[in-house]
Amino acid sequence: MALLSIVVPCFNEEDMIPLFYAEINSLILNELNRYDFELIFVDDGSIDTTLNIIKDLSSKNKNIKFISFSRNFGKESAIYAGLQHSKGDYIVLMDVDLQDPPSLLPTMILNLESEEYDSVGCKRSSRKGEPFFRTLSSKMFYYIINKLSKTEIIHGARDYRIFKRKMVDSILSVSEYNRFSKGIFQWVGFKTKWLDYENIERAKGGSKWSFWQLFKYSLEGIEAFSTSLLSISTFAGIISSILAFIFIIVIVIQKLFFDNAVAGWASTISIILLIGGIQLFSIGILGQYISKTYLETKNRPIYITKEDNFDE
Ligand code: UDP
Ligand code: MG
Repeated sequence: MALLSIVVPCFNEEDMIPLFYAEINSLILNELNRYDFELIFVDDGSIDTTLNIIKDLSSKNKNIKFISFSRNFGKESAIYAGLQHSKGDYIVLMDVDLQDPPSLLPTMILNLESEEYDSVGCKRSSRKGEPFFRTLSSKMFYYIINKLSKTEIIHGARDYRIFKRKMVDSILSVSEYNRFSKGIFQWVGFKTKWLDYENIERAKGGSKWSFWQLFKYSLEGIEAFSTSLLSISTFAGIISSILAFIFIIVIVIQKLFFDNAVAGWASTISIILLIGGIQLFSIGILGQYISKTYLETKNRPIYITKEDNFDE
């Protein structure tokens, strides 16, 4: 029998894990019983009873594995750790909050088994139940990142995906510290089939992402997959230098031939501000990339394990 690995990142999900487990377990027993399975919970440094609940489940079922981080490393790290520990022929990534409906899994596997595809992903056809501002900012993010980056980032794509082994091995070979999985999944190539589904609201607990975190995540994504921002600043720098140069010539001509060099204070100030702004913007972008390079060269581990049960 083929082995199916289900990788589930969890951060403070004590309310959701029992609900999730009930659902996935009945699915495995009823619809997916032609597979061996392993369920891998990645506890991303939760500070509630998440780890205890997971341990309790795993003590009752040897197919349930867990890995617990020494602190919160973020979902991207949890995904990496889960994939790294998975042994399956098919590997599924899904959230614990049931926003990635387990009921889609059989269809996803069927599509994957049709040989043609190396991965099947889900994307939301609607974002109903989501705050307007979040939908808007997310649309803007996908628009910008796809304009800037050569790697296509699919709009509405979730991290709810199933992969064949060889694709997971390729994903793991991309071992950068600043991880943007949506981009990495595309970057490694292979053939992905996309399934649409309606957005489902979270049953318990809130989204673990604050606006600020999402903003940083978006910026991370853009920086990880495109260096066009650096070109924008170079371009802005060139344009402003040309404009400044033309302006200097105009002033010199005015001084020499018309002797009315005292142009308005306002225009002087606005040009200083404009150039200053462009400079700060450019330096800011440079700084972002330098800090990324700095973090990568430190070569730190993507996560640190506190405990797991993979040797048991
Ligand atoms: N998650 C995680 N680490 C974090 C934040 C979230 O492992 O630092 C997990 C979380 O437990 C859930 C999944 O990632 O299983 C998606 O989180 P959430 O529902 O908060 O994200 P959203 O659905 O709002 O994008
Ligand atoms: Mg969610």
